[in-house]
Amino acid sequence: MPFAPGQDGWVLLNPGPACTSPRVRNALLRGDLCHRESEFADLLLGLQRKLRAALDLPSTYGVALVTGSGTAAMEMAVLGAVRPGRALAVVNNGVYGARLAAIARSHGIAVAEVTAPWTAPPPLDELAALLSARDDIDALAVVHHETTTGLLNPVEQISRLARTAGVPLILDAISSMGCDALDVQEIEADFVIGTANKGFHGLPGVSFVYVSPRARERVAAVPARSVYVNLATYLASQERGDVPFTPAVQVCYALNEALDELAERGGVAARVADYAVRAALVREGATALGLAEFLPPAAPRSNALTTFRLPQGLTYQELHDRLKEQGYIIYAGQGGLSGEMFRVATMGELSLGTLHNFVDALERVVGTEGGR
Ligand SMILES: *Cc1c(COP(=O)(O)O)cnc(C)c1O
Repeated sequence: MPFAPGQDGWVLLNPGPACTSPRVRNALLRGDLCHRESEFADLLLGLQRKLRAALDLPSTYGVALVTGSGTAAMEMAVLGAVRPGRALAVVNNGVYGARLAAIARSHGIAVAEVTAPWTAPPPLDELAALLSARDDIDALAVVHHETTTGLLNPVEQISRLARTAGVPLILDAISSMGCDALDVQEIEADFVIGTANKGFHGLPGVSFVYVSPRARERVAAVPARSVYVNLATYLASQERGDVPFTPAVQVCYALNEALDELAERGGVAARVADYAVRAALVREGATALGLAEFLPPAAPRSNALTTFRLPQGLTYQELHDRLKEQGYIIYAGQGGLSGEMFRVATMGELSLGTLHNFVDALERVVGTEGGR
């Protein structure tokens, strides 16, 4: 095995968990700590403060951290935002939009979906018509960056439709947070979902939901649908530095280091600018080798991930394995796209030099004509 997991191991070009810095990984070794002690309360209060600071949010925004992957926070937001007997409107143009709808349905919440092909933004006129036609819609949920394809959804416009309809907006920003520009206050998103291990460069195991001041009333009006992922419980206890259940203590330590590192390097704005350079490097490098991007040229794309068509004569598995031999982990297409495309995420602790080396490795596999 030429590469092994660890400090100088795999270069992860999958959309989370992303590569982390030695400082973040070493935080796991800090030692054992009881979550009922004041040291953990300090850590938790600090994490809430730093998570708000990362998105330039005032202290009136709540932050609820939950131990679990990003989907746990998605579930917590959906269950906490829709009152009994009402419905959730969902924009579904990818795997994660579909997941938001599936979460609601699995808890008996009615869903009204507006769908679009995975390569296209949602039809906003249809969404506006749905929101005005149905008076049982209690919230609107949308994914900012659909990690399925790399497509950025028009959240400013979608948020405006939610405001016109008078319903809160649930935003899955898990793969755009830290990667793409997002002004939560400006667009007035009410439930904003994030995770430690994508653009924030923490380790997997902790995710979170930001709650706007006006959405707290809604949270208070929704009876518990789950014991574990109950937004009201987490908000209330964490504001006191307390947690309802045993958290992933060491992963919280790691997130704390990751957020300090983020701030020391200029915060989210600097990281978004860096990610834009990374994405451009990979796109230009791969295009020069004859590879074609999967999304149409006009589609707004995230800085976090790029989807390419598979080169002629090479299956995903072959491409994956030959890149893995050189230390790079790419990601398959989801659902029906697995035979057509592959994904390259550019999130996490990666240098531009590493991405240059990746393009060179790609050239060794596909040649200079995209394998044709
Ligand atoms: C990664 C991701 C999630 C969460 O996936 P987990 O495997 O639960 O961490 C949710 N939404 C989007 C858009 C994502 O990219």
